[in-house]
Amino acid sequence: MEMGWIAWSEIGLGLIVLVLLGILFRRRQLRRRSRDERLARPFSEGEAAILDRDFPRWRWIPADLQARFAGCTRVLMEEKNYEPCGGLGEVSNEMKLVIAAQAALTILGKSDPDFFPRLHSILVYPGGFRDRGRRRFGIDDGDRGVLYGESWETGSVILSWDNTLAGGRNDDDGMNVVIHEFAHQIDQYDGIADGVPKLPTREDYARWASVMELHYRELKEASKTRDPEPFLDPYGATDPCEFFAVATESFFEDPLDLEYEHPELYEELAKFYGLDPAGWTKPEAFD
Ligand SMILES: [Zn+2]
Repeated sequence: MEMGWIAWSEIGLGLIVLVLLGILFRRRQLRRRSRDERLARPFSEGEAAILDRDFPRWRWIPADLQARFAGCTRVLMEEKNYEPCGGLGEVSNEMKLVIAAQAALTILGKSDPDFFPRLHSILVYPGGFRDRGRRRFGIDDGDRGVLYGESWETGSVILSWDNTLAGGRNDDDGMNVVIHEFAHQIDQYDGIADGVPKLPTREDYARWASVMELHYRELKEASKTRDPEPFLDPYGATDPCEFFAVATESFFEDPLDLEYEHPELYEELAKFYGLDPAGWTKPEAFD
């Protein structure tokens, strides 16, 4: 029996589909392999020295989490676009490392981190940058409309390099612009920025709401009188989103004091981030 033109074209079409599927499958495989390779690659000596200088807190991370920390940092360093802005010549590998390491803390405790799939660009300005009237979740210097960081649910984080570096080097004052903006990213993932990230169960949401609301209200009150000065940054009294971001900064940079001052809040964040930084010990070399 002779095959007609239609039968041949169907076979041809079938072959094209097969080839395309093959290419897609191969690309996925390669991507997975390079992700696995990134996750497995430890810091070089040079990278460790940069972190010792610019983000010494990384040495507090317990030994059993160190390899994972290097892997998470590597993925954020190499799989995101870093764009220089405002006259900054380039975002060097060194700068990427310092930014990615601080951001990696926020996903270190997750058993299956998703590496911020919606985040594609990290825009870096040399210093504070001007609010262009479309401000979302920025940190500012109080009154001049100059921002240090911003987080957009449309897939970008904007950072001032000066403040990124200052926040990384001064690693126990409870202030860190990178951790702050990445906390906003985590909050924004469920589509609504409301200070409530995605949680596993309904009970978790209920507990989260009661703990966060209580401490948010407390901070709002304490920020009015400022006598005594509240433990958490009064900027967290702006709204529940800022409260979550500010509490997260304190959780990672000043965990012992946060646990002492607000044990329930500490416990809630420890559960969410899957980490117990108050139990981490300061490495001797950094005493
Ligand atoms: Zn904020």
